[in-house]
Amino acid sequence: MTKVSAQFPVSGSAKIAFVGEAPSTEETIYGRPFVGPAGKVFNALLRQANLDRDEYLITNAFDEQAPDNDLDAAGWFKDEGRVAENVARLTEELDRVQPNVIVPMGGTALWMFNGQRMISKFRGSVSKADRLRAGAKLVPTYHPSAIQKDWRLLVLGVQDFVKAAAEAEIGPHVTYPKLELLIEPNLPDIMAFAEECKASPKLSVDIETGWGQIRSIAFAPTEARAMSIPFIDLRKPNKCYWPSARAELEVWKIVKDICESPNPKLGQNFMYDIAWLFEKHGVAVRNYRYDTRLRHKVMYPELPADLANMGAYTRLGTWKTWGGGYQNKMEKKDG
Ligand code: URA
Repeated sequence: MTKVSAQFPVSGSAKIAFVGEAPSTEETIYGRPFVGPAGKVFNALLRQANLDRDEYLITNAFDEQAPDNDLDAAGWFKDEGRVAENVARLTEELDRVQPNVIVPMGGTALWMFNGQRMISKFRGSVSKADRLRAGAKLVPTYHPSAIQKDWRLLVLGVQDFVKAAAEAEIGPHVTYPKLELLIEPNLPDIMAFAEECKASPKLSVDIETGWGQIRSIAFAPTEARAMSIPFIDLRKPNKCYWPSARAELEVWKIVKDICESPNPKLGQNFMYDIAWLFEKHGVAVRNYRYDTRLRHKVMYPELPADLANMGAYTRLGTWKTWGGGYQNKMEKKDG
């Protein structure tokens, strides 16, 4: 079988390494990665993200074409010798160019770096490799062939390339933004925080519901600071967070004051929250200005408004896949 060599950057070093699955027919004929139909899509992604192909390492998880281009059927994922050979080759290529960011394109490339093949779950998130080149910064995205089969994914591929380029400028280390999440507040905490909320030029509001009631409400006056105010506490015999009805009423008065303040409010699928707040508590949210779900739907009506797609707008992507919570992730990955 013919092996297809990587395309190395003209300068010798590259801030980004793009890794595909395996060469196809055209690549095998020309001896270069991504020169066939998938290569045309790859080039389009680069162009739209304003990236110059000659500046990057372009390679594949496997350097030979699989029979019928079907790696599963060929048993390559379980072929330990073949995997080890390709891991060694990829490691050598990456060592040569020392990229700040690796962009695994598709599930096969992702699998090489972290053992996961569910690309739709990981794309658009910044994460760390924990197999091949452990610790390296990854920004996974869809394989160009997947985009070719479903053009709705094109915009996501471009978004991910742009994110990869921005991460490459930041450097090789995965850095997490510092967040201050205030939980289990007391009344004075809430009173003090209410002032920040009312002064915020874009106050994010989010309720959680359960048992037919609002179980908590959270406010974020900035991207880096938020407070969650609980009403239900399952640890307590009476399941109430607040010690008395009077105390809870005081809290609701502050919540009402915040929600009815004139500054602009932001929410996700916010009509839901507004209806609950009004119908259950007579809180009339004022100046509902931004709805992230509606904005996403206006920009990309063809894409699902789920967490996998919307979480990718942030640097760190789909937080519900993190498991163990944000703090654990910071410690596990950054420590
Ligand atoms: N061409 C490549 O070089 N790699 C792929 O994964 C697909 C086409």
